Amino acid sequence: MRAFDLHAHTVVSDGTLTPTELVEAAARAGLAGIAVTDHDHVGGIDEAREAGRRLGVEVVAGIELSLTHAVGDVHLLGYLFDPEDAVLLARLQELRAARERRAAGIVEKLARLGIAISMEDVAREASGSGRSIGRPHVARVLVSHGHARDIQDAFDKWLGEGRPAFVPKLKLTAREGIHLLRRAGGVASLAHAGLLPAEARAPLVRELAHLGMRAVEVDHPKNDAATRAELRSLASELGLVETGGSDFHGDNKPGQALGCERVPADVVARLNAAR
Ligand code: AMP
Ligand code: ZN
Ligand code: FE
Ligand code: FE
Repeated sequence: MRAFDLHAHTVVSDGTLTPTELVEAAARAGLAGIAVTDHDHVGGIDEAREAGRRLGVEVVAGIELSLTHAVGDVHLLGYLFDPEDAVLLARLQELRAARERRAAGIVEKLARLGIAISMEDVAREASGSGRSIGRPHVARVLVSHGHARDIQDAFDKWLGEGRPAFVPKLKLTAREGIHLLRRAGGVASLAHAGLLPAEARAPLVRELAHLGMRAVEVDHPKNDAATRAELRSLASELGLVETGGSDFHGDNKPGQALGCERVPADVVARLNAAR
């Protein structure tokens, strides 16, 4: 089967492989293609496409946006938009600037808790400016300075929601996120709904579909069998394309190998038709 992994991160956000290394890993995993879905950033797509041409791996333009919502942390994947769309790029720039301010806020909170790490340390983990800084970068510094055993421990002790160094980040409303992607010629898919409270899933999928979302991520490592069954039935009822992917982050999420979730190539054709 020609298969695609439609959810993967690079060093442009909080993955640990460069876009070129990601495509090399995709070729080794026998994938026909991948979507590069960095948080709030499209900066990895060009390099991945270049490597993809060389290695015969198709690269789908993608992104992962965070939405404000009463049910909690809602992530929205975008596919097949124009990665040069000026309105989209301007909004992403604002989201990344807010991420920089938030990272500084986290560092400040840690300092007040007696943990001295610097923004330079964090920026170094995020491999420079212009990248999408996130909590995993802070977590890596906490681990390397001996303040946490591993990344998960850093979230459990300090960085997770409700923990002492948590700072919320700027998020889009569901309406703005979906419209931003559609305006740029793309299609939106709800990511890893299995991480949300079970009773919140179906109402959320219906609400987002009503706002113009045309797909839902069924196959994801954190979606259990019951969640997948529920999402498949919602997808068929609402006419949503069923997407899937590993949510690969390299060493930042050791359990999720590239290609551990994969969907047939015709899913990409269906996404194209749904735009
Ligand atoms: P951020 O975009 O800065 O909020 O960071 C989001 C990243 O942190 C995503 O890759 C999440 O999977 C990861 N993450 C969020 N919460 C946790 C948690 N409680 N434990 C481990 N990783 C988490
Ligand atoms: Zn991530
Ligand atoms: Fe996510
Ligand atoms: Fe992700």
